[in-house]
Amino acid sequence: MITFLSGGTGTPKLLRGMQKVMDRHEISVIVNTAEDIWISGNHISPDVDTVMYLFAGMLNTDTWWGIRSDTFTTHEEITRLGIDEFIAIGDKDRAVHIARGEMMRNGMRLTNVTKILCERFGVRENVLPMTDTEVTTQVQTDLGLIHFQEYWVRAKGRIEIQKVIRSFNEPPVATPEALEAIEASDAVVIGPSNPITSILPILSCEGMKAALRDKRVIAVSPFIGNAPVSGPAAALMQAAGFEPNSIGTFNCYKGLADLFVQDVRDPVEVSPSVRFDTLMVDEEKSIALAQEVLRLIATC
Ligand code: GDP
Repeated sequence: MITFLSGGTGTPKLLRGMQKVMDRHEISVIVNTAEDIWISGNHISPDVDTVMYLFAGMLNTDTWWGIRSDTFTTHEEITRLGIDEFIAIGDKDRAVHIARGEMMRNGMRLTNVTKILCERFGVRENVLPMTDTEVTTQVQTDLGLIHFQEYWVRAKGRIEIQKVIRSFNEPPVATPEALEAIEASDAVVIGPSNPITSILPILSCEGMKAALRDKRVIAVSPFIGNAPVSGPAAALMQAAGFEPNSIGTFNCYKGLADLFVQDVRDPVEVSPSVRFDTLMVDEEKSIALAQEVLRLIATC
């Protein structure tokens, strides 16, 4: 078994390849939940949804969120009624959020909700939220302290971030299921996700770092040069006090990653590192990188 730590874009691209070259039951994914948000009364877990839809074969891989060919009738109608629904939610996607919200209101743990949803979608992989309690990445901006989704989706990332904060009522604890998956794994892969908003929230769950210390951990950089392949990672890295490049990424995972993978084009030198083509522009590229990572695991 291999366990992956994932957000909702870069690592899912690697998982798109992994599911083609591994026994799908041997894949476990611990997913960031610090971007979760209740909207219009329903519970969105953006990264869990992306990973689940990917494995269910229904992810919209043009955007890496939402369900392929979904319609937006309810979103358009709600907006017309004057509700400020700042995230465009597809109709089928919303049904998942309604189902999740309902199960959570009935007291079910997010881990169990995710298991049930995955079973209903015929997902063979093990999709595990990092924690069962609420934790939220917020950013300090001129508009005040706002949810990361408010920054990235509503403000389109166009405002300056002064600080990144994770807020919670009780310190997040890694779930027993997540820790068991790590324990049962031959290696753990920190995929090329946003270090600040996707990976550090997972690593900050109590018990996670200790579980990783005894494992072979391979981390893949989401940066090529001073820019991430996509998204707001550079601004977040700077606000969190890290260089916005592969060195900063390496430093985020200091003491945890045994092997660090960088893109062949990356002019930034991290020593030691292994170089592959990490730009997963299509499924073929995802499969090629997945095969390289598996070879690396087999030889290290
Ligand atoms: P989010 O939850 O949607 O922010 O998604 P993630 O945190 O999982 O992934 C975002 C990160 O993925 C960004 O920092 C990108 O640089 C990185 N990324 C996206 N596509 C690729 C790719 O093809 N290769 C690499 N190396 N990184 C990628």
